[in-house]
Amino acid sequence: MNIHEYQAKEILASHGVRIQRGITVDTAEAAVDAAKKLNEDTGTEWWVVKAQIHAGGRGKGGGVKLAKSLDDVKKIAGEILGMQLITKQTGPEGKLVRKVLITEDCYYPGDSETEEYYMSVLLNRQSGRNMIMYSPEGGMDIESVAENTPELIFTEEIDPSVGLQGFQCRKIAYNLGLSGTAFKEMCKFVVALYKAYEGSDSSMFEINPVLKTSDDLIMAVDSKVNLDDNALYRHKDYADMRDEAEEDPFEVEAGEFGLNYVKLDGNVGCMVNGAGLAMATMDIIKLSGGDPANFLDVGGTADAETVENGFRIILKDPKVKAILINIFGGIVRCDKVAEGVVAAYKNIGEINVPIIVRLQGTNAEEAKKIIDESGLEVLSAVLLQEAADKVSEVLN
Ligand code: GDP
Ligand code: MN
Repeated sequence: MNIHEYQAKEILASHGVRIQRGITVDTAEAAVDAAKKLNEDTGTEWWVVKAQIHAGGRGKGGGVKLAKSLDDVKKIAGEILGMQLITKQTGPEGKLVRKVLITEDCYYPGDSETEEYYMSVLLNRQSGRNMIMYSPEGGMDIESVAENTPELIFTEEIDPSVGLQGFQCRKIAYNLGLSGTAFKEMCKFVVALYKAYEGSDSSMFEINPVLKTSDDLIMAVDSKVNLDDNALYRHKDYADMRDEAEEDPFEVEAGEFGLNYVKLDGNVGCMVNGAGLAMATMDIIKLSGGDPANFLDVGGTADAETVENGFRIILKDPKVKAILINIFGGIVRCDKVAEGVVAAYKNIGEINVPIIVRLQGTNAEEAKKIIDESGLEVLSAVLLQEAADKVSEVLN
């Protein structure tokens, strides 16, 4: 589950990570009150207005702005709230900004002593270990650092049997070029950050930038956190952090039907049982020159109703030009799926895209009969390759 920056910062703070302090609001008037409150609490006289959307790159897209007066705060918050913010990660249509985070400014004016670093914690799936990835070149564009100067990106793997060690924290602080107070502060920061990552059962933490202020404090200025869905049952209090408005509406709907659906950009809708077969189906669609419009695993117990729900969601995507149904009947019976296809056709009404069906396994023959006798214009295939070829034929 993705969460907002301000929520991620709450998790960080609760584990003792120093953060840039802020208050989240949804009107320009409340932004001014928040700025006044921050002034009382921290003494800050400049503020940063930050769009809260589930995407990075907000700074470059105009979603993070410095305000040097209360009038500025009001004006900038008014502009950012309600804007359709376009960043590298939102796609061309952008994302509507519903909330802004008003923060203290912690880059002291005219100060050349501040430094921005990059730090993330994530699972290295190859080694099966958590890993801290960091760079002295933090700020806005870590992707180009990775591309142009990969030697400036460091990693530190954590042995799960002993956990994060002191020497590893010191190595990180050293590689970031720190000494004295800032060095010690960085060690504390890394320990707290790792504790927050483990304690929240996250799958990814990304802090960019980690800031070193001129008085040698180390703090998280930005934070992007992915919570592990499979561990959410251990964190009931995180359930409120879900913001459905930020999620793909198709995916939200599919979730309500109990379908594993991920929206993609292509034109071939696919409905498959089993995640592995779904991945293989997407691969073969690609190999045959098509482009999958989605990942959809209807699960091992698909019935007519599941199939119909799957159809409805796939058909809502206007990009879909063909649908490939690929079911291997094991526990799920092919005739049930075939009934689902026929029922969906009747219930949904006009389906204007060609459908290619490959049903194999339990009751495949009965299934073929049901489809053939229905009089529907459905192409059936036996081999997966054959199915994919039919998809590319109907696309061309
Ligand atoms: P992102 O663009 O979505 O990654 O959003 P960030 O939270 O990283 O903010 C973008 C940039 O705004 C940061 O890299 C900083 O350079 C700048 N920024 C953030 N907080 C402050 C602040 O308190 N003062 C100043 N002057 N700049 C800030
Ligand atoms: Mn950032």
